[in-house]
Amino acid sequence: MLEIKGLSVKYGHIEALRDISLTIKPGRIVSVVGANGAGKSTLMMTLAGALLPAAGTISFEGKPLPRRPHEVLGLGICLVPERRRLYANLTVKENLQMGAFLRNDKKGIADDLEAMYALFPVMKQRLTQYAGTLSGGEQQMVAIARGLMSRPKLLLLDEPSLGLAPLLVESVLDAVVDICSRGTTILLAEQNANQALEMADDAFVLETGRIVLSGPGPELAENPLVQQAYLGIK
Ligand code: ATP
Repeated sequence: MLEIKGLSVKYGHIEALRDISLTIKPGRIVSVVGANGAGKSTLMMTLAGALLPAAGTISFEGKPLPRRPHEVLGLGICLVPERRRLYANLTVKENLQMGAFLRNDKKGIADDLEAMYALFPVMKQRLTQYAGTLSGGEQQMVAIARGLMSRPKLLLLDEPSLGLAPLLVESVLDAVVDICSRGTTILLAEQNANQALEMADDAFVLETGRIVLSGPGPELAENPLVQQAYLGIK
């Protein structure tokens, strides 16, 4: 579905991603784990068309990735950014509707709103509440639902568990598994390595801009190097 070859991305002289190659197959959950500053957000923003590569190629469904974010979104790649970035002064429902701004199939949008309330029942009681007044967990659910309203083929989730209590982390990540099982491919960036690896079909460990390990998620979770560096297991 998506293929990255030899990707480098720079901020001025700082090389945030160095020679990254990875493949995302359709229908999978692919996790990228790594510490603060490893380059996870840079990878996500590059795939969303918000940053341009210094070197390398990215192809989506066999064609080069477009260079503008709205074109990338139009092809079916949607980023749910780190720290959620909801429209704080719009209601929950308005935020969800904003997610569908490239669509004009009214019936489909109405059906998808209903599907979002089924996925995150708590949202239905909050439809007229301003997004800025929601709890962190509720905001994360709205951010994911807003992303899904564009009907993406590939959903990019940048640290959806950031700042959430453990129980909420679990319900958000359970929803991610559910979303994938309904046909949306997932690329998940997480510092919260344990769960992100356990739930991943394929996983990559990023360290200072390079991929240092890759393999099936549960296998990486068992890897002693990963356990020492990311899971706090000695
Ligand atoms: P975190 O989990 O803390 O968000 P991350 O893995 O997402 O980390 P990135 O945000 O992609 O990492 O950052 C990768 C590197 O690029 C870091 O060294 C960071 O300081 C640097 N960087 C990120 N954004 C910029 C920027 N706008 N200008 C300069 N350097 C940047």
